[in-house]
Amino acid sequence: MTTPLSPSLRHALQGNLLVRGAAAVMTGRAGAAARAGAVDIRIRDGRIAELAAGLVPGADETVIDATGCVVYPGWVNTHHHLFQNLLKAVPAGMNADLQDWLASVPYPRLARFTPDLFRTAVRLGIAELLLSGTTTCADHHYLYHHGHGAETGDALFEEAEALGMRLVLCRGGAIQSAGDHPGMRATALVPETLDEMLGDIERLKARYHDAAPDGLRRVAVAPTTPTFSLPPVLLREVAGFARGMGLRLHTHLSETDNYVRFCAEKYRCTPVQFVADHDWLGPDVWFAHLVTVTPDEIRLLGSTGTGMAHCPVSNARLGSGIAPVRAMADAGVPVSIGVDGVASNESGSMVHEANFAWLVHRALGGAAQTRVEEVIHWGTAGGAQVLGLPGVGTLAPGQSADLAIYEVGGLRFAGFHDIATAPVAAGEPTPVRDVFVRGRHVVRQGEVVGLDVDKLRREARAALEVLMA
Ligand SMILES: [Zn+2]
Repeated sequence: MTTPLSPSLRHALQGNLLVRGAAAVMTGRAGAAARAGAVDIRIRDGRIAELAAGLVPGADETVIDATGCVVYPGWVNTHHHLFQNLLKAVPAGMNADLQDWLASVPYPRLARFTPDLFRTAVRLGIAELLLSGTTTCADHHYLYHHGHGAETGDALFEEAEALGMRLVLCRGGAIQSAGDHPGMRATALVPETLDEMLGDIERLKARYHDAAPDGLRRVAVAPTTPTFSLPPVLLREVAGFARGMGLRLHTHLSETDNYVRFCAEKYRCTPVQFVADHDWLGPDVWFAHLVTVTPDEIRLLGSTGTGMAHCPVSNARLGSGIAPVRAMADAGVPVSIGVDGVASNESGSMVHEANFAWLVHRALGGAAQTRVEEVIHWGTAGGAQVLGLPGVGTLAPGQSADLAIYEVGGLRFAGFHDIATAPVAAGEPTPVRDVFVRGRHVVRQGEVVGLDVDKLRREARAALEVLMA
């Protein structure tokens, strides 16, 4: 039995709404279906009932006036590390590449994340994501060590429910440190055992996992990095364990050239071939980054339907490179967008991420590389596909009412000929006015509903003192 939703949340999901008067609605779908035009959106019991122009409000409906706004599907962020929300712009890591950044920013501080401090980071991270219009977050959470960490999974689900975010807990962690990064060895934390890892995943699945097409709580199996976190012989066992429970698989892969070299030297193959040899490919698997991949690897990912989380800002910030997303999308790889932890980004915003994704591939390969509609598709429906949540990511009848309403009445947008493109083409700041997750009002007039901002600011300040020391 999964834990039932709280009475207040059940109540919040019952509202009947009519979002009226938007200048434009983007659907998240591909091609010609990407634009719905200036339509109204009727919401019944948390799901979209109707999209059409000129809808008349019913007696039992609350009208949300979206005049001067554009509406997008809520963004689906497919790779994040919420605990990093208290580790932005750590000086020691500002000019470091991935290896040095890991050793100087997150790893030395892992042991300082008490449950309270962790909750502060998670609350900050969820609030920041909601305020960019993000409604689903896949959190790759790896603060697990021998005898510690199980309570943090519960904390993630509790904090997400309190603020209304749909959460996919990608249950990370490692069962060996010997093969891990030197920076991790320096923490003196003891890795958990395989039994601890798998036992906790079983517990999380039983308690939280909702397999519905728009489930608000999901669990995925996500050892932190395949070649480091587990002995290779166990990778296949973990994949079989996940599939036996109907859970998806996620991990980091090919984030840097160093990683590709490591695989070539140690295993005499490319990283994608390595995971293929251990049953880690398929439509139930998605990898974060894939910055350095060969044409053969792209073909293998595409032919197996293996998904990817594109994290362009983090990859640029760490100097890792630019993932060949155009080639991957053309090869049939399901592409999605992730913020990655904000310790290597400084911005937990899917609008910022989408804006950068739209631009960076053009800088590299010309203006035909990306279109606004396609970037929205990657960041919404694409994310829903890799997470196995077909009931979210698009605005259409029957879909979960996850939507972001952007205020585009300001002077910054007065010259726009095609206002529907504004959040992606203009990027930040495109103010989010309202956000709904399965019909629940989670951002109202630019403020996160139910969040004590002053208290959170005080807690964050106190937490920084612990983490800076
Ligand atoms: Zn990551």
